[in-house]
Amino acid sequence: ARVVVGLGTCGIAAGGDKVMKALQAIVAGRVLDIDVDFTSCIGMCYAEPTVEVALPGEASVIYGDVNPENVIRLIDEHVIGKKPVEDMAILQIVENGAKAYEGITLMEDYDFYKMQVRTVTSRLGRTNPESIVDYIATGGYEGLEKILSGMTQQQVIDEIKTSGLRGRGGGGFPTGMKWQFTHNSPGDKKYIVCNADEGDPGAFMDRSVLEGDPHSVLEGMIIAGYAIGADEGYIYVRAEYPLAIHRLNLAIAQAEEIGMLGENILDTGFNFKLRIKAGAGAFVCGEETALLTSIEGNRGMPRVRPPFPAVKGLWEKPTNLNNVETYANVPFIIRKGGEWYASMGTEKSKGSKVFCLTGKIKNTGLVEVPMGISVRDIIYKVGGGIQDDKKFKAVQAGGPSGGCLPEEKLDLPVDYDSLNAAGAIMGSGGLVVMDETTCMVDVARFFLNFTQAESCGKCTPCREGTKRMLETLTRICEGTGKPEDIETLERMGRVITKTALCGLGQTCANPILSTMRYFKDEYLAHINDKR
Ligand code: SF4
Repeated sequence: ARVVVGLGTCGIAAGGDKVMKALQAIVAGRVLDIDVDFTSCIGMCYAEPTVEVALPGEASVIYGDVNPENVIRLIDEHVIGKKPVEDMAILQIVENGAKAYEGITLMEDYDFYKMQVRTVTSRLGRTNPESIVDYIATGGYEGLEKILSGMTQQQVIDEIKTSGLRGRGGGGFPTGMKWQFTHNSPGDKKYIVCNADEGDPGAFMDRSVLEGDPHSVLEGMIIAGYAIGADEGYIYVRAEYPLAIHRLNLAIAQAEEIGMLGENILDTGFNFKLRIKAGAGAFVCGEETALLTSIEGNRGMPRVRPPFPAVKGLWEKPTNLNNVETYANVPFIIRKGGEWYASMGTEKSKGSKVFCLTGKIKNTGLVEVPMGISVRDIIYKVGGGIQDDKKFKAVQAGGPSGGCLPEEKLDLPVDYDSLNAAGAIMGSGGLVVMDETTCMVDVARFFLNFTQAESCGKCTPCREGTKRMLETLTRICEGTGKPEDIETLERMGRVITKTALCGLGQTCANPILSTMRYFKDEYLAHINDKR
């Protein structure tokens, strides 16, 4: 039998490591022939700690809310008694001709997964993220082998162009085109950089992918290195993600050991080395030029663009930057083809997107859905609806750079352009759900407080403007606001958007502008009723 504990950061935070210790003690104490293993987050953060039990030839059953006391039931009743513990089981996964159990929901019928398409997240919760054997057994490094056994650099770039993949870090710039720019830039030294400086409140997509499938990010970067003509890469990951850094370090060592990374990869003469740079937690270092400046050992502050990194990036060399999810998509695209990827999604937003569901939603967790799905379906079908069956009020999409969408926008398709038009952005994929009890002016203040604290101070509109906006907003929240404050906020927001140097300042007003657009009555109530 095989018993697998979910040990992503969410699982550990919920007590998964204690479940693991209890399980190991039972197995050792009773000298049972059970293969105890661990995996990463399968996405159901709401049900952690999760444990999977599989008997030979039978379906895998996933159990939720397991603790050190009740884990013994999984051993006694399921492993030894051969009968799943129905009152703890969430769902079953039937693979490789295994026999299904009666009375336990199949994964494909379980509401949380029904509308999901798992590409980037396909190994999460299903393989041991610290095992390169698991990675290879599930198609890992096939993409790299494919390109090195006959594809030209241009063919690889063209495949990414065909896929329609757009940057998953928020900007949505076409990835193939970005690769082409860096490929075309003259220079004998080029770099590949992975932006893993995830910092939006409510966002943990990158952490989950790095913890759950680190090799896919490595493979995507190595493929990009080959396509662009780079022999060196950096993963800039925030130091607050120690488990992700640990698993990345392990993955790098494993890939080097089997010749997928380092010198003369697969005896083709292609060299590529990777390093990890742990960022100290400044939100602005998620901005690409600030990130590069930080890797160079300087204070992470944005630079004026142009020149863009594709022309003058790390140490002034042509550099390609993408985020974790973008690189993680690459091996799948190369393996299955650009057209396969482009068959999912909408005309201008192809493929699938990973989102984090947080806030007042029943199923908090990590989901991957096809582009074009409606916000309503994500919240009500995948997310299970609002906690305590309260009324939905808004969803904040895109973090501090994004905006709040009201109920009338729930049928909006999730794609880059529709979200932009509604005043929100795709961002990296955080969706914070709010119910009827949430004050939208407080929400705007929360996000502005965040961006104001994270402003690096390099340019005046952002350094001074965010302070003045926050003062005004605080006055409104505290009941001392004046009617003219609303216009002042709108005006300041528009000026900062137009004049700030980098994306942090250019988008910091979005939470205010979008809440004013859809919830102006709440601002007026604060001012007129002095509350
Ligand atoms: Fe720094 Fe803000 Fe200016 Fe960006 S917009 S450079 S964060 S001060």
